[in-house]
Amino acid sequence: MAMILVAEAHKIIEDHITRLARERVSINDTEGRVLAAEIIASFPQPRFDNSAMDGFAVQASDTKGASIKSPIDLKMVGVVSAGSPGDVVVGTGQCAQCMTGAPIPQGADAIVIVEDSSGYESGPEVQIYKEAQEGQHIRREGEEIQLGDLLINDGTCITTAEIGTMATFGYKDIQVYRKPKLALFATGDELVEPGNDLLPGQIYNSNLYLFEDLARRAGAKVILKNVIKDDQDALKTFLANAFGTCDMVISSGGVSMGRFDYVRDVFMELGVKEHFWKVAQKPGRPLFFGSNSTALIFGLPGNPVSAFIGFMEYVWPVLESMTGQPRSSTISAVLDESFPIDAVKTRYLFGNTWSQDGQLICAPTKKIGSHMLTSSLEANCIIVADPGDKLLTKGDQIRVRLLPWKTIK
Ligand code: AMP
Ligand code: MG
Repeated sequence: MAMILVAEAHKIIEDHITRLARERVSINDTEGRVLAAEIIASFPQPRFDNSAMDGFAVQASDTKGASIKSPIDLKMVGVVSAGSPGDVVVGTGQCAQCMTGAPIPQGADAIVIVEDSSGYESGPEVQIYKEAQEGQHIRREGEEIQLGDLLINDGTCITTAEIGTMATFGYKDIQVYRKPKLALFATGDELVEPGNDLLPGQIYNSNLYLFEDLARRAGAKVILKNVIKDDQDALKTFLANAFGTCDMVISSGGVSMGRFDYVRDVFMELGVKEHFWKVAQKPGRPLFFGSNSTALIFGLPGNPVSAFIGFMEYVWPVLESMTGQPRSSTISAVLDESFPIDAVKTRYLFGNTWSQDGQLICAPTKKIGSHMLTSSLEANCIIVADPGDKLLTKGDQIRVRLLPWKTIK
């Protein structure tokens, strides 16, 4: 199958994305989930006029001229506290004890803080030491939110503020998008899991750890995960399981031109429809994308940098869509040094961005081999250069994909 352009590859993938179903989960389990419905204010907030301070509800006009030297006496007619509104009415010359969060008693139009009075233990007559303004220390019904206001949009990733707001308005069971279920596998006779000793020629499997972390960050759930030998039967066994249970299968390695690269053959043998195999890009040319009736299938390269960047460029956006999140996109930055472009391939490198004089500046990492995963340690972005003939040098514009969990320096 011929090599296709990056833009074509993205277009083909777009045409196969499916949105997932919704499910209801308890508000306790919503952290990191994506809202699948709008959250609407079911009542105004505050829901009723209430006191912002502990003190006395009064008629402001009664306190005119009050001072420590010439206090004004008011008759205490009752107590209202948060949760116990009672049926106190404050008439002229009267006051009621009124605590923070308690409904303002009928007739009152201001709160005098307890510090500006003779206190709760004053008996039937309370001395007021300070003139009150009408409306003072009263939180008005609806001053924050009106009934029916849109509080949180569909597609919002739920964090602390959303959880608090949903609870404020009484939401208990929340509609979220179902997490895509993923099967991840790595192939290679040389691969050993961390924690074991390495024999000559062996290396540790890093890619499944990369993938699982990225999948989790993107809001997916890894159901199956395995390191598999370069063996067709072992691949078939894993995939038979994966295809029945997962929305997406992602592999690393074994899709290149090596003698023992069986992954693509096995995909096809199991009825996966191939949509493309090689993409005009560096690193990560041998990229497989296919689907069957239940799953999207990505065969990413084995080299760790290619696997990492391939996931971010191709799989991450799909997971954003499948989980109902808004798409992240590349942004423009100014190169601080030259960037190696290619005449026919899109070129990716890990890089760093920082802001300087109101501009976003970027530079690629020094290590540029697709096997050099430590090049990602200092990186906060992936720099993307379209194919072209013109050399990219310091001062030129280029596109970067910020790694969402990193910060711009
Ligand atoms: P392949 O695509 O299978 O030819 O692998 C390309 C390179 O990536 C080889 O050097 C592999 O040893 C290496 N590689 C493949 N899978 C992994 C993995 N899971 N973790 C680390 N390196 C890998
Ligand atoms: Mg291999």
